Amino acid sequence: MNPSEIPTDVPDADEVTSAYWDATRRHELTVQRCRSCAGYQHPPRAVCITCSDTEQLEQAHVSGRGIVDTFTVVHRSPRPELEVPYTIARVRLDEGVILLTRLEGSTEWSIGDAVDVDWVDLADGRALPIFHLSNG
Ligand SMILES: [Zn+2]
Repeated sequence: MNPSEIPTDVPDADEVTSAYWDATRRHELTVQRCRSCAGYQHPPRAVCITCSDTEQLEQAHVSGRGIVDTFTVVHRSPRPELEVPYTIARVRLDEGVILLTRLEGSTEWSIGDAVDVDWVDLADGRALPIFHLSNG
């Protein structure tokens, strides 16, 4: 996927999401971890959804491995610049957190497929995590 094919409406980083986005510039996948309760969450929030702590949240590196939780193949483009078909999925990372993402490199997906993270660079230097079938 070329950067020109990526939607241009990716939200700007803010004080809650900037650590996540900065890591994507290095192609490092992170999710928020709470030092109070050890819970993981994504996307980044100002408050822990498990224990309501607001001071102990940090971005933690994760493996980038997961499984396809569910997916859908989009055949009708919502915008003229988006090429179809493409596959939108929920990927459950090994750490238990769900990411809403895209699957690339196959047209025959199944729930439970093992996947690994890959990256699509944005024009501003950030990158979007996508997933492809695991090599092993
Ligand atoms: Zn917590």
